[in-house]
Amino acid sequence: MDLKVRMKDLAGSRVALAVAAVVLTASAWGVATLTDSDSAPQQNVAQEQGGSSDGSGGDGSKGGDGSNGGDGGTQQPGGIPDGIAHASESGGNAVNITIDDGPDPTWTPKVLDVLKRHGVTATFCMIGPQAKAHPDLVKQVVAAGHRLCDHTVHHDTTMDKKPVAYQEKEILDAKKMIEDAAGGAKVLYYRAPGGSFTPDSRRIAAANGMRPLGWNDDSKDFNKPGTAAIVDTVKKEIHNGPTILFHDGGGDRQQTVEALDQVLTWLKSQGRPTGFPVQTTP
Ligand SMILES: [Zn+2]
Repeated sequence: MDLKVRMKDLAGSRVALAVAAVVLTASAWGVATLTDSDSAPQQNVAQEQGGSSDGSGGDGSKGGDGSNGGDGGTQQPGGIPDGIAHASESGGNAVNITIDDGPDPTWTPKVLDVLKRHGVTATFCMIGPQAKAHPDLVKQVVAAGHRLCDHTVHHDTTMDKKPVAYQEKEILDAKKMIEDAAGGAKVLYYRAPGGSFTPDSRRIAAANGMRPLGWNDDSKDFNKPGTAAIVDTVKKEIHNGPTILFHDGGGDRQQTVEALDQVLTWLKSQGRPTGFPVQTTP
């Protein structure tokens, strides 16, 4: 359909406004889908941790968990703190492998294969409708011993600018979709798309049994820079902290599959075990 003509025909009417709104929404979603990378998010995470909106509180994500003090927060009813978690339950020098934006029928099985080959468990941050569409994959993830994380319904990286009711619906609807698909397993974490956490979304997640989950080491795999570049980035950024970000959705993830394999081999050579992010305060 020729949108411009149609918009012109409808100009001045309420229908035109409604159409325009739909078009805007569609474009925003398109952009979010194409460029999402959770890539700029370290900054957002840092802002949340520092409690400042201008980021001047320093890049908390670079300090890792011990030094940024961002892992606490207020404990919500049910015992889950609303502070953004990065530390590993395993303590020591353990790292957390986190995999976002799936499940995906092509790439999630390949990622699961790599993890299985290395005997590694990871945390999968799933998008609600994709979990609903692929309950078999969600069950495979759970059966292999991995943990589930809520990555909202629409992956709206600007949800931190939207009303609290919208954020709540994005979070709780996705939680239900993922848990229904999982057939019993609970979603233990919440990761805001692109790191767009707010105090409200952290509180809502924690009050519903999900620990807000950040990351320290963005592999930047989403942008497909090449397998070697992804591996190099992980190695270079690992000093930021123990939680590493990969993606099993949002496009061709062949480079991610290859890079993850190499990263897991490297971590082992470094004597670094893998674990799960902390859910409660140690
Ligand atoms: Zn994401």
